[in-house]
Amino acid sequence: MLFKNFSAYLQRIEKTTLRLEITDLLSQLFSKLTPTEGKLASYLLLGQLAPNYQGVEFNLATKTMIKIVSRTYNLPEEEVKKRYKDVGDLGEVVWQVASKKGEKDKLTIKEVYRHLYQVAQEEGEGSVERKQYLMAGLLRQLDPLSGKYVVRIPLGKLRLGFSQLTILDALSWRLVGDKSWRPLLEKAYNVRSDIGIIVEVVLNHLREEKQLEELKKLLGKMTVQPGVPIRPALASRLPNFEEIMSKLPQAGIEPKYDGLRTQIHAWREQYKKRNALFSKETDVKVKIFSRNLEDLTLMFPEVKESAIELVEKFNLRGVILDSESISFDPQTGSFFPFQETIKRKRKYNVTKLRQQLPVRTYVFDILYFNGEDLLTQPLSRRRSHLDELLAKPVGCLNLTPQHLVKEKKEMETLFDEYVSAGLEGIMVKKLDSVYQAGARNFNWVKFKPSALASVEDTFDLVVLGWYQGKGKRNKFGVGAFLVGVYNPREDNYLTISKIGTGLTDNQWRELHQHCLQIKAPHKLVNYVVPKELACDFWAEPALVVEIKADEITHSPLHTSGYALRFPRLVRFRDDKLPTQATTPEEIKEMMT
Ligand code: ATP
Repeated sequence: MLFKNFSAYLQRIEKTTLRLEITDLLSQLFSKLTPTEGKLASYLLLGQLAPNYQGVEFNLATKTMIKIVSRTYNLPEEEVKKRYKDVGDLGEVVWQVASKKGEKDKLTIKEVYRHLYQVAQEEGEGSVERKQYLMAGLLRQLDPLSGKYVVRIPLGKLRLGFSQLTILDALSWRLVGDKSWRPLLEKAYNVRSDIGIIVEVVLNHLREEKQLEELKKLLGKMTVQPGVPIRPALASRLPNFEEIMSKLPQAGIEPKYDGLRTQIHAWREQYKKRNALFSKETDVKVKIFSRNLEDLTLMFPEVKESAIELVEKFNLRGVILDSESISFDPQTGSFFPFQETIKRKRKYNVTKLRQQLPVRTYVFDILYFNGEDLLTQPLSRRRSHLDELLAKPVGCLNLTPQHLVKEKKEMETLFDEYVSAGLEGIMVKKLDSVYQAGARNFNWVKFKPSALASVEDTFDLVVLGWYQGKGKRNKFGVGAFLVGVYNPREDNYLTISKIGTGLTDNQWRELHQHCLQIKAPHKLVNYVVPKELACDFWAEPALVVEIKADEITHSPLHTSGYALRFPRLVRFRDDKLPTQATTPEEIKEMMT
């Protein structure tokens, strides 16, 4: 397909606010694409070039893009800046200034994708100039509409207002004319974490006109692969020990560490490369992924070394471990709070940080063992592998203790013990449960002291926009801000609170800085906001804040149906994507 035609779809999608229509348009688009085009288009539709975990980034700032636009269309930089200031969107500026004349509509989706990929690949000395040169070269070959969208992609501002879930719905529509296939497709997506692959598989299937049963089998065969991150299983909440006991009578209790989630993949290629047997260098490959599936391998060298040690110690072909890595004071051995551990998420000075802030990794699950996918095995069986592998710590890898309890009293005692030891609380896990990638359900329940103190737990909410500061707060640039929950069912954001107090002066300043980075020219189509709460400035869905509140109440105003009493900001959750924010379902559970 020509990129020009793809852009026409993007324009139609951008113009609609109706999710059904977006799904329908995507479904129509997919019907016109080859499987490979579908795969590339699905990344582009999400403003990406590859799945998140591959870490393909443009590293192109707005400032540089302004230079590119000025260079491409022979306009003074000041003029581009002025136009950008007026409309708040460089895509719109390109649409205004690009010449409509000439033969500029011959590039295909694949060609544009390849160009963009090349731009992203440029790194090192002089790369900014090379990126500028390549981007300008690409834009010159595009018609105004295509230019508008292509300029937005590297800036992460495509703003079509949907996520992977709507793409899965669109595929389901293509297959059966309704949403009924989404759970099956989502299951495969949760294991492979790559929307492009799912689109390609489905379009291939449609092209070959095979039976749906065949596709079901094919999706079922999409099992875990070392090196490819699995979307992590998540925990629900319950209000008290009684409810936990009645919902999970056969449970294992684990301490809840307040560190960073680390999914560790370690595998060897020795079985393929015979020569490696004679080489001194290890042939064990390691990848460490965050909760968001970002690649953290370079940031945790000690975890990588320990994973290699584990594979070598037991002569394994490969393992995938789920764990929490937490920094500790090397003098006293006591754990540091989350704010310290997160400092390890840096690319530079890792060696120094490793000494100052060493981490211990508590392994609590195993998802793959020597060629066997363990996701569908019960937790008790998965744990028995762990008991063997980590009977003694290997490097910084430790086994997370698990206690089997039958009585409520035992659970309470464990909880008290862990909390007095400075831990965050407990995780209660159903012993016969499978590992449900990407799902939040009652297989795992988290319980923290806040639940007992009848203070509500915290919520991870998405900043949707902000209001001009008045009086004292004028100096911060933000007077109040609007936050929402993420509703995966409809792939949209629903309001829950307008927050105007509960931040320190520094937090207000920091919030303003964040907001300026993600300012959007208008409300996004998947923000469901009542008229009364219309913001002075809108934000891209990109900033997650952790909010504590005294109470959740029903609200006739907020579109989630709920409001928060006395909300205050706990921290900025840089480790969470907006689609990982608290959901309306969770709020409902927390109210009961
Ligand atoms: P969530 O991950 O549920 O969206 P969150 O990121 O805000 O929420 P919490 O609500 O504090 O985190 O609890 C879940 C997290 O606890 C897990 O994602 C994991 O990182 C961490 N964790 C700590 N100890 C354990 C454990 N023993 N088992 C599972 N997860 C654990």
